[in-house]
Amino acid sequence: VSPDVFDIAIVGAGPAGATLARLLSARHRVLLVDRRNLAFDEPEPRFRKACGGLVAPDAQAMLARLGLGLPRTVLVGPQLFVVRTLDLASGLERDYQRFYFNVDRERFDRWLASLVPESVDRRFATELAGLQVEPEGYRLRLRDAHGVREVRTRVLVGADGARSKVRSWGIHAWPSPPREYLALQEWFEARTAPPWFSVVFDPRLTDFYAWTIPKGDAVLLGAALPPGPDARARFDLLKERLQGHGFDFGSRLRREAHPILRPLLLGGTPRLPRNLLLLGEAGGFISPSSAEGFSYAFKSALAAAEVLNEDLEAAAPRFARATAGLRLRLRIKNLKAPFMYHPVLRWTVMASGLKHLPRVQLP
Ligand SMILES: Cc1cc2nc3c(=O)[nH]c(=O)nc-3n(C[C@H](O)[C@H](O)[C@H](O)COP(=O)(O)OP(=O)(O)OC[C@H]3O[C@@H](n4cnc5c(N)ncnc54)[C@H](O)[C@@H]3O)c2cc1C
Repeated sequence: VSPDVFDIAIVGAGPAGATLARLLSARHRVLLVDRRNLAFDEPEPRFRKACGGLVAPDAQAMLARLGLGLPRTVLVGPQLFVVRTLDLASGLERDYQRFYFNVDRERFDRWLASLVPESVDRRFATELAGLQVEPEGYRLRLRDAHGVREVRTRVLVGADGARSKVRSWGIHAWPSPPREYLALQEWFEARTAPPWFSVVFDPRLTDFYAWTIPKGDAVLLGAALPPGPDARARFDLLKERLQGHGFDFGSRLRREAHPILRPLLLGGTPRLPRNLLLLGEAGGFISPSSAEGFSYAFKSALAAAEVLNEDLEAAAPRFARATAGLRLRLRIKNLKAPFMYHPVLRWTVMASGLKHLPRVQLP
């Protein structure tokens, strides 16, 4: 058999793709491709995923199910166990206890990629540049520093994130797809890094939310904004408004932008050919209320592994059935969202003081 013929090709070695590659049976010939160079000791990659790097309780539970604990090398201080919720329109501020692990996203991804077994053909710094449907599967065009090369695969898995090329080139249709937002993040030198994760609501700027997260010597400010020419101006306004609320951002270290998907309450399921699967954010598996994506990346990868380890035939319809519960969960999250995003309901919850941790005033 030619080395360039695979049973399963996974495009994207983020949390979803790397997890699937780790869980697939060694009897499959598996290819894992990522445009980032995720080899553990390689220098900074050209492509970096913009992320808050918070591992939420649902993702922790999935890591536990996958037999994993976070190594010290991926953690970054401070560890966070309070969410400071700030409603800029009403001026209300509340603290809620919630447990996160604070990680360096790049190191987190490299660690997950390092767990992929040797039996998987890993091609990093390699980009999917085209795909063609064939009677027995797909022919992929892969581009790396040495040029373009073709490989063939029976099953194709798109784990290539919010702007998935596998999705845009491979699927038939997606009725009522997730809404796309633009996530902007800026990293600042931390003058004083408060040890909490702030969640900021301001309906004048976005119907989603903004956040601040302390990260080592830096603090990052992010916002999920409706895409458009005024997104940058909205972000600057957010920064200005937060400075009025006691935030003190130091000099800027880095700026980044990334699309982020938000599944709709009545969103549909992508219509896929029989041998194409979409995992993680590529498949719209991300919380519409909090934008938490790690647990959904892990869960959809586990579902795909179970389907593919059983049989490669008709993988897509079986994967659709295996993830029906996960899509239902996304709808339930959507039903919960008004308590966070409707100004009056949010005000009612916050003003009630329910579950608020009153701050001790220091002398
Ligand atoms: C600003 C921001 C902050 C976030 N913060 C959090 C958070 O704190 N906690 C949380 O749980 N979730 C967070 N999320 C969501 C989370 O980042 C995603 O849901 C999660 O990364 C999805 O994992 P994935 O493996 O599906 O896709 P990704 O992590 O996006 O991985 C996709 C991979 O595919 C590769 N790729 C893409 N295109 C190609 C191509 N053509 N060829 C080859 N490779 C390709 C990319 O290099 C990447 O490695 C955040 C998202 C954003 C945008």
